Amino acid sequence: MAIKQFKTESKRLLDMMANSIYTNTDIFLRELISNASDALDKRHILSLTDSGIKEDEPLIRIDVDKTERTITISDNGIGMNREELEDNLGTIARSGSYEFKKDLSTKDEADIIGQFGVGFYSAFMVADSVEVVSRKVNEENAAKWVSNMDGYEISSCKKDDYGTVITLHIRKNSKEKKYDKYLDKNEIRSLVKKYSDFIRYPIRMTLESYDYKEDGKAEKVSKEETVNSMIPIWKKSKKEIKNDDYENFYMQEYYDYSKPLKTLHYKVEGNTSYTALLYIPSQRPINYYSSDYKLGLKLYSRGVFIKDEAKEIVSDYFRFIRGVVDSDDLNLNISREILQQDFQMNTLRKSVDKKIKTSLENMLTKERENYEKFFDCFGSQLKYGCYDGFGVNKDVLIDLLMFKSTNEDKYVTLKEYVSRMKEGQKEIYYASGESVDTIKKLPQLEKLLDKQYEVLYFTDSVDEFLTSVIREYDGKMFKSILKGDLDLDSKEEKEELVKKSEENKDLLDKIKEILKEKVSDVRLSSRLKSYPVCLVSDDNLSIDMEKVLKQFNQDGVKANRILEINPDHELFGKLKQFADNNDVIREYADLLYQQALLMAGLPVDDPEDYVKKITELMLKAM
Ligand code: ADP
Repeated sequence: MAIKQFKTESKRLLDMMANSIYTNTDIFLRELISNASDALDKRHILSLTDSGIKEDEPLIRIDVDKTERTITISDNGIGMNREELEDNLGTIARSGSYEFKKDLSTKDEADIIGQFGVGFYSAFMVADSVEVVSRKVNEENAAKWVSNMDGYEISSCKKDDYGTVITLHIRKNSKEKKYDKYLDKNEIRSLVKKYSDFIRYPIRMTLESYDYKEDGKAEKVSKEETVNSMIPIWKKSKKEIKNDDYENFYMQEYYDYSKPLKTLHYKVEGNTSYTALLYIPSQRPINYYSSDYKLGLKLYSRGVFIKDEAKEIVSDYFRFIRGVVDSDDLNLNISREILQQDFQMNTLRKSVDKKIKTSLENMLTKERENYEKFFDCFGSQLKYGCYDGFGVNKDVLIDLLMFKSTNEDKYVTLKEYVSRMKEGQKEIYYASGESVDTIKKLPQLEKLLDKQYEVLYFTDSVDEFLTSVIREYDGKMFKSILKGDLDLDSKEEKEELVKKSEENKDLLDKIKEILKEKVSDVRLSSRLKSYPVCLVSDDNLSIDMEKVLKQFNQDGVKANRILEINPDHELFGKLKQFADNNDVIREYADLLYQQALLMAGLPVDDPEDYVKKITELMLKAM
């Protein structure tokens, strides 16, 4: 029989295991039991949909043999055939969770293994060789996989029943670690209690105890016992559960390093009764916005697993939620069909959504700091939720939104914004840009800050699009400071501007003619204070929206560009003196336009030409 080599990644992980003396090696048992439980789930699900597959009474067994120095973990779950043994155990499946952490220190490694386990291979933390014998449901042949970490061998064999038997040959005690404890049944039993108590299938062990006879003599007897309580954590009463238990359950189920930000455990009685244990993660999964992100909500019926990624029971805008919903009322026998029972699912979803919403609202009002952390991770999701479907869900979500603003760069809700609007302020002002820093440098911002108007920073690409579906809040319209007419001036100021525009009509027309390919209008404006020019768009599409659309390959959509000139700026004063010199105006009009492009965060048309012109000007001035 040929010895096969492990794949590189697997080898690396195995080395981690071999050197894991500083880690909590106890968790190997939790990992193997959880695999066994998954295998039982899979068999159960198959039996629901495939009448050819029968279900034995599901069972996990642990046997300890002190003389042989072995622990055996058996299950009668789905089993693996030869190819699956090769695929599943020859390569590490769960690599994703640690792969991106390429340069791990020993301490980090210990953290990974300890906190969320690494599946099957953790067996090698306590064993120097491992045997797996497995027979897949409805298949005749069984197969055996053996490894001493250097490589592995696979052979065919016989096995009476379906399922998997894993035998660990426990390491000899070393100076640092006493592996012998894993050969003590009582120790194993307490590890099961500690880490796997909530496993829904019975975990059985044969345990020795003493029976006391009437004459006072003790007799040693062996009894088979179920060592786990089998009550899943969400079915226990809150009083019984410590915060640690909630957190451990979450971290194990979702392979997350960090504790959840929020835990919700509740029970609903009524038309559709259910228990839910829901979590808001404290970090956004790296693949959250990609198509391979898996929804983390599981559906159970009376403690029995029904399905993963149960998108039917939570709205998409809350897809960051992880956890379990266990309903009392779903009819199990019709498995797949249940999901078509829209009515029940809808009621469930409405109720789950409502609970999440209330919890977020409470967080927002009572635990602001936590809510802001949450919003940093998942705020965009809520905004997309508002935007989707032309705003059908905006009423649900609008008050959960926050934006950073010119008010100390802090988060503000729309309600808060409106409540502190300045006297005479009619609209909700916002400015969009790549980052708070770029927005802060916008020439258009100064005037509003002078008036002490608060301006929302729209730095998320969805923000400005959002205003096209929400339009207003509490009767106040959204208004971009980079679009259209800001209408900030008094009657006198407006008249003054009209007068100046008329006086300089020829000059403005000239500039307009020069830039006619590039901008739709050139006008004097009161928007600016210390800057000479800026670029704005009309009330429809903004320049920033154009940039976002471009990212989505919508190249054809262009914002209407308008060059606004500050009539009170020294530069305009100078320009007026040269109004009749066409060469000067031609050159400067273009330079002004290029400046405005730069300030709007857009590239200049022709960097080479621009640099040449600036250089010439510098030389002239020196
Ligand atoms: P994970 O459980 O995260 O997928 P593991 O390394 O623990 O990673 O296991 C790899 C794969 O091996 C599992 O996905 C499963 O398909 C299979 N497997 C492991 N243990 C068992 C078992 N007891 N019964 C059936 N399949 C198993």
